[in-house]
Amino acid sequence: MSSVNTAIQLITREQAEQGATAKGSTCSPALAKGPWDYDLAEALAGIPAYGPGASSADAAPAATPRQGQLPEEYKLASDAELGERILAAKAALGDRAVILGHFYQRDEVIQYADFVGDSFQLANAALTRPDAEAIVFCGVHFMAETADILSAPEQAVILPNLAAGCSMADMADADSVAECWEQLEEIFGTEPDAEGRVPVLPVTYMNSSAALKAFCGERGGIVCTSSNARTVLEWAFQRAQRVLFFPDQHLGRNTAKALGVPLEQMPMWNPRRELGGNDAQALLDSRVILWHGFCSVHKRFNVGQIEKARKDFPGVQVIVHPECPMEVVDAADSAGSTDFIKKAIAAATEPTTFAIGTEINMVNRLAAEYPQHTIFCLDPVICPCSTMYRIHPGYLAWVLEELVAGRVVNRITVAESVQDHARTALERMLAARP
Ligand code: SF4
Repeated sequence: MSSVNTAIQLITREQAEQGATAKGSTCSPALAKGPWDYDLAEALAGIPAYGPGASSADAAPAATPRQGQLPEEYKLASDAELGERILAAKAALGDRAVILGHFYQRDEVIQYADFVGDSFQLANAALTRPDAEAIVFCGVHFMAETADILSAPEQAVILPNLAAGCSMADMADADSVAECWEQLEEIFGTEPDAEGRVPVLPVTYMNSSAALKAFCGERGGIVCTSSNARTVLEWAFQRAQRVLFFPDQHLGRNTAKALGVPLEQMPMWNPRRELGGNDAQALLDSRVILWHGFCSVHKRFNVGQIEKARKDFPGVQVIVHPECPMEVVDAADSAGSTDFIKKAIAAATEPTTFAIGTEINMVNRLAAEYPQHTIFCLDPVICPCSTMYRIHPGYLAWVLEELVAGRVVNRITVAESVQDHARTALERMLAARP
């Protein structure tokens, strides 16, 4: 099977030859270009944006990090040349560097990874390599931050392209969450009830900045992943009357609904509106206050796609990620983290047809890994995670060759004060039991 990138190149070339537009086949013809082409156009226009891909329509904060210029030689190099240079740099570095690749990363980069996994698995994988001076994280910014928090202080965590953020993580910034918290404290007060439960606890999804993990750590709160969100919510309900859940409304809603929390007790907090767009009574009656955030990749899945898959492939197993909207999770056969999806496919003993609701690079890789099954993405339009896509092999070759030359570029460093509180919230998550 050809990689997502190869497919995009082919589609774009065919469209150019036929004078057609990209409609219905890829989400943006700009995907076929190098990220630097987009960086330049974007910088000239002065518009912060995520670049081509699933979140290209999302508003990026003004402070969204920019990569700056990549030396020309890396932009001009062919894929084969970049491959040779990456392998040579890897060989020269040996155990001094470890390369981590997220499930949603493109194949052109994943082929050089020492570990492939979800964000938390990768941060833990880095712990198995205390000898490595550099951890090259081919994922997005919040993942590199988590790796920096969990790794030894002398280890440098490197994000090959600084513009690889996460649009969902950016939807909850520390100032807006602090403002929300102040308003909630005014309504709820801070006194525990007769059972010792505080009025509200903050819970942040792993896909958030280190500053928000620290915000939770400092206030008795906790971090969750898509694998343990249920356990974490149960933990929080033992200690609090309600939860403020950010940034992903869908993971929060899907998880709380599965625990039996009625939808009317899950008001949404829109940070641009007074009291998040709610009246005080709705907040007082709430069990989970959901932040107005979402993943642009998983938001693309809809019930119509599931209905079509069931019609076209009777008996199909539909598995979706819990970052998908509630209606999609309800219509699927099962929902779970990337690890859950992988394990569900690995566990199928008979040839099975799977329709998967998660990022296209991961789905295509699963299809190649399990040829005995028919595995396809519910969304027929090729549209990868915009921000993950910004890690091009050219950036990987650059950061590795700089390391060989004794220079550390693109280091992600979380301030010591933030690290301490963020680590507290992460440790609570590791210790949380159902
Ligand atoms: S897939 Fe969604 S949540 Fe994951 S990094 Fe991309 S935008 Fe963020």
